[in-house]
Amino acid sequence: MKKYEFILKNLDCAACANEIQEKLSKNSKLYNVNVNFAKLKLTYETNEVTVDEVEKAVKEQEPEVEMIEIDKSKNEEEKSKIGTQIIRLLIGIMLAGIGLYTKLPLEISTILIISGYVVLLYRTTKNALKMLFASKKINENFLITISCIGAYFVGEHLEGLMVIILYEIGKILEEKSINKSRKSIKDLMNIKPEYANLKIGNKIEQVKPEDVQIGNIIVVKQGEKVPLDGKVIKGKAELNTSSLTGESKLAQVEEGKQVLSGSIVADGMIEIEVSEKYEQSTVNRILELVENATDKKAKTETFVNKASSIYTPIVVGFAAIIAIFLPIFTSIPYVGDNGSIYRALIFLVISCPCSIAISVPLSYFSGIGKSSKEGILIKGSDYIDAIKNIREIVFDKTGTLTKGEFDIKKIETYADYDENEVLKYAAIGENYSNHPIARSIIKKYSHDIKNENIEDFAEIAGKGISYKYQDKIIFVGNSELVGTENSNKNDFDMTKIYVKINDILAGAILLGDEIKEGTTETIRKLNNLGIKTSMFTGDNKEIAEKIGKEIGIQNIKSEMLPQDKYNEIEKLINNYSNIGNKGAKVAFVGDGINDSPVLARADVGISMGGIGSESAIEASDVVIMTDNISKIIKAIEISKKTCKIIKQNLIFSISVKLIILLLSTIGIGGIWQAVFADVGVTIITIFNTLRILK
Ligand code: ADP
Ligand code: MG
Repeated sequence: MKKYEFILKNLDCAACANEIQEKLSKNSKLYNVNVNFAKLKLTYETNEVTVDEVEKAVKEQEPEVEMIEIDKSKNEEEKSKIGTQIIRLLIGIMLAGIGLYTKLPLEISTILIISGYVVLLYRTTKNALKMLFASKKINENFLITISCIGAYFVGEHLEGLMVIILYEIGKILEEKSINKSRKSIKDLMNIKPEYANLKIGNKIEQVKPEDVQIGNIIVVKQGEKVPLDGKVIKGKAELNTSSLTGESKLAQVEEGKQVLSGSIVADGMIEIEVSEKYEQSTVNRILELVENATDKKAKTETFVNKASSIYTPIVVGFAAIIAIFLPIFTSIPYVGDNGSIYRALIFLVISCPCSIAISVPLSYFSGIGKSSKEGILIKGSDYIDAIKNIREIVFDKTGTLTKGEFDIKKIETYADYDENEVLKYAAIGENYSNHPIARSIIKKYSHDIKNENIEDFAEIAGKGISYKYQDKIIFVGNSELVGTENSNKNDFDMTKIYVKINDILAGAILLGDEIKEGTTETIRKLNNLGIKTSMFTGDNKEIAEKIGKEIGIQNIKSEMLPQDKYNEIEKLINNYSNIGNKGAKVAFVGDGINDSPVLARADVGISMGGIGSESAIEASDVVIMTDNISKIIKAIEISKKTCKIIKQNLIFSISVKLIILLLSTIGIGGIWQAVFADVGVTIITIFNTLRILK
């Protein structure tokens, strides 16, 4: 199926975004329809529906919205309609002002006042009616329209005009601040390379990164972004990788080193042999991940959208009750500036949910943007919520807590094989595995094994590998795989990999791993935050205990196969919900080499240094770009801050509304104060949200 992406120009309310999404989703030939209000983006997949048909459906819902292709949208987006809005506002104020404050004949001043109303109310009323007829729903525009018209008929001209003037000013300011936050989020993720310097013979040509092929040579000069992944074949440079990893330290690269797209050459100049097409490159994968992340809406977000569509009709009903029944049961009259109709109108204005509908999605978006800047990719707003509620983190050992770069400490030989042979048979097979142990063994065996022909290679997760080579059946792996017991008490603190050839133990390779820098510190901080830490490993008990104790992990489980890890995680999750702690989340942190099922099963699956491993990215919810586990603390901080700001905004909006409501019930404050409060609250919440990005 083909994926389509468009920018929705002139989309100016979060609720309308939802309406469009709902409407398009009803078409069974459109799949994965999503409208992202924060980014004004529409995405869907289809084979049958034409763009024109989709555009027609969008226009039916929101006539002003235009669908623009992503590439062309760049310039269009900047040109907003704020200018015309300001002009309309001024004309309206002038007409109504002359009508109200000059001594013209009554008929003329009435006409002037009414035309002032019409000019000012035009957009709001049009939006209200559109919503009412297109989806039988009432929204804030509707509330404002009836408040104004109501005020006019009860004779409160100034009040009515103030409502719409303030509302329009508010809309303009709101649009300005939303544009600003969209821009700062965009700047944050400004890692997309614009061009590549392709080297053809002796000439250098500037081309689009998308047009460069694998094997092409590109040149990257000082100050430029590395546009594609590849290997340095000439030159030396210092790379700034901060936009990928959040690390500010410069990395030195020289001939033979891998470089990732998205980093910036701070000093020097390099020639790179491209190893991936742009679509598969690191930059593009990060951008796609972040894009898709904000499309998956968090529960709070959809809750707010859902709630507001039930909420508004209830509010209107309530206002009607106030207007009709108050005079029957009290001495309050129907009309007049303290009458029941006027009070009902105030009530309507106060109940506008705009500040909430705008600030909640914007907050999640900012949280995800901020984390990606730190080198932490969070795959959906749901996980921002979940991370804050993590009660237990389970770590994989190899490659997560330890470096996963094994040193070969010793090679034991049995039967008639010598050390070199043991290493050779291990290396030939391990060449096909991605496990950290495999990589370390290949590194040690320096002979060329690329062209060795092997058959029936199999990887037995959590145990080792098996393969056939020159008619020999060979196993390389732990004691369980080869069916032996390790009785040598002296080497318990090393990982022992046996090599078995045709049912005979040929030898064993003893490997030592090191604890990663900063691990102990991170575990301590997590424990201080009240988060329980556990380690699940496939390695033997002695090593597990030794390493676990050294870094201060609270709970250690060893000799586990990937499926054991899966079952244990499942048990943990169930335990928490059984003891009535349903909100408590369990996270699993792994390198994703053979832990994909566990990563997927955990409430929050976190993979490390994982941009290299496709399956880890697929299975995990959070990808940490570096090998640095302290990023987990950072992720927790960002998620806490985001949720705190959402909460602040909710509490602030609701309390201001309640206070105004209270004041208006006891007769203090009128409609336009209520509008002022609503607009003010919306803008303050947007600014508060921007603090997440700091
Ligand atoms: P961890 O849980 O520490 O990440 P794994 O589940 O990846 O460990 O592996 C557990 C054990 O299985 C390793 O300690 C090693 O003994 C053995 N093993 C796994 N894969 C391989 C391999 N490719 N070659 C040799 N041994 C392996
Ligand atoms: Mg592992």
